[in-house]
Amino acid sequence: MIIVLKPEATESQIKHIVSRVKSIGLKPMISRGVERTIIGVIGEEDLLRVQPLEVYPGVEKVMPILAPYKLVSREFKPADTVVDVDGIRIGGKRLVVMAGPCAVESFELLLAIAKGVKKGGASILRGGAFKPRTSPYSFQGLGEEGLKYLAEAKKRTGMPVITELMDLRDLEIVERHADVIQIGARNMQNFDLLKEVGRSKKPVLLKRGMAATVKEWLLSAEYILQNGNFNVILCERGIRTFETETRFTLDMNAVPLIKSLSHLPILVDPSHGTGRWGLVPSMAKAAVAAGADGLLIEVHSKPEEALSDGPQSMLPEKFAKLMGELRRVAHAVGREL
Ligand code: PEP
Ligand code: MN
Repeated sequence: MIIVLKPEATESQIKHIVSRVKSIGLKPMISRGVERTIIGVIGEEDLLRVQPLEVYPGVEKVMPILAPYKLVSREFKPADTVVDVDGIRIGGKRLVVMAGPCAVESFELLLAIAKGVKKGGASILRGGAFKPRTSPYSFQGLGEEGLKYLAEAKKRTGMPVITELMDLRDLEIVERHADVIQIGARNMQNFDLLKEVGRSKKPVLLKRGMAATVKEWLLSAEYILQNGNFNVILCERGIRTFETETRFTLDMNAVPLIKSLSHLPILVDPSHGTGRWGLVPSMAKAAVAAGADGLLIEVHSKPEEALSDGPQSMLPEKFAKLMGELRRVAHAVGREL
């Protein structure tokens, strides 16, 4: 349920409505827009139906939220959410590029790649320490050691770091070493994990499941917000279709669609979306043109030797060149980079 206030509603009127909502056992969330304030109310909506909130001074109208997801919906919060990561704002006018290797392999390699992507203009360093590999015989990641390397790379470069959390038991160490917690495609519907990161103070990047609809994806994000963490960034990373020439099919529709349905920022990952480094530049530019708030790109200084996702990893020099091209696309659509 959302309570839309009149543009001229006063602070004391807002306070009065908020305390009324609380007194009937519901949770109000205030969203202050440029023009007007909206109070979202989550809980047993029947309780509100018997309360004539429309007649309260300052109230313009009371409407149900029709979408199955509530807190993530644009109706609930019309203004864009901007997630702050160490002063880097995700979801604002400036695009944010997260780049780095698929997996942390060694400290020396990580640092070299980190320096490379920083020089190219990336602002957040990515790298997996816990890797969700299709085969149990593939490199599974360095685990806690990898997290320590990420934290050290942050110290040396000043770049905040993002890494994937796969298991609830690792939440504490991931929180200790990372600035953003990544929930990967394979865990998008791991509801216990979602609830737990919902209680975390760290921002969460939620990747779309490879067979998930946009509705399912937003409902997964809802789990995180519902548990108190509003710092959620969505990431489109490609879905499974009948096409086999590319690793996945990057669903670019999702970008403007998410923008209309939700206030959360959305990034695009053209590396997993295509599976081929040669296709990454075009899809990265398409993502920016479509309105994405940033990109997640895999970069490796020796892709042919990478322990995971080498075929989709860009060389640092190619990444830097792409950043220059992206800047021009960003300006063309009224964004900065
Ligand atoms: C990754 O970012 O390296 C990754 C495993 O991504 P996804 O969960 O999208 O497959
Ligand atoms: Mn990868």
